[in-house]
Amino acid sequence: MELTFLGTGAGSTLGSKRFKSGLLVSSGTTKIVLDMGSGANYRLEDLNALDVQTLFVTHLHVDHFSGLLDHLVVRKLKGLPTLKVYSPPGLRSVLEAVKLAGNNVSAEVEEAELPKAKVGDLEVYSVKACHSIHAVAYVVTDGRRRVLYSGDTTEPCETILEEARDADLVVHEASCVTGCDSWGHTGVRELLGLIPREKLVLTHIPSWLEAEIIEASVGARVAHDGMRLNV
Ligand SMILES: [Zn+2]
Ligand SMILES: [Zn+2]
Repeated sequence: MELTFLGTGAGSTLGSKRFKSGLLVSSGTTKIVLDMGSGANYRLEDLNALDVQTLFVTHLHVDHFSGLLDHLVVRKLKGLPTLKVYSPPGLRSVLEAVKLAGNNVSAEVEEAELPKAKVGDLEVYSVKACHSIHAVAYVVTDGRRRVLYSGDTTEPCETILEEARDADLVVHEASCVTGCDSWGHTGVRELLGLIPREKLVLTHIPSWLEAEIIEASVGARVAHDGMRLNV
């Protein structure tokens, strides 16, 4: 599997250095995206990867799906096939409201509390995350290797930690250095004590805390927009 980070910023991130959440996972001709916050859609265009078939949304905070609106318009203009979107409940009504307001957007949305699907070479399932609204973390496997993507969560979150044990790589949010659990997020210091740092890649980085988070991440990798990893 190849991972490409489309957006590694948090909701509070300012500027265009880090766009909002998005991760492209490719295996052979199969391409899926996990989350599509603002700007993640532009990185997908820069990569010439508009042929992505499926999007999985972790939760309905706007920094995880707002890029989808622009992306759906581009798909229409380019005559691309309808995107299949798996999401916790609520996304369909958001898209219907946008459509009713006069936008030519459509997607095949499948909502579930815990979305899962097989897409080409990839098997994707979700577990409940521990966030301020209903949110899921996704596990993606090609049958040989497993990647866990936390979305937004506080830790310790038992369901996520259980999946982390079997994962080859854990892409995990790090929204502060320490003590952001009351906002439903994870601090790097807490995370490093829970998941082996050699399999951790940190994302969802607020611009105003970037230097401190990088400094505190000793031994774990910190993702940046455009970063690619082979798993
Ligand atoms: Zn977020
Ligand atoms: Zn969130």
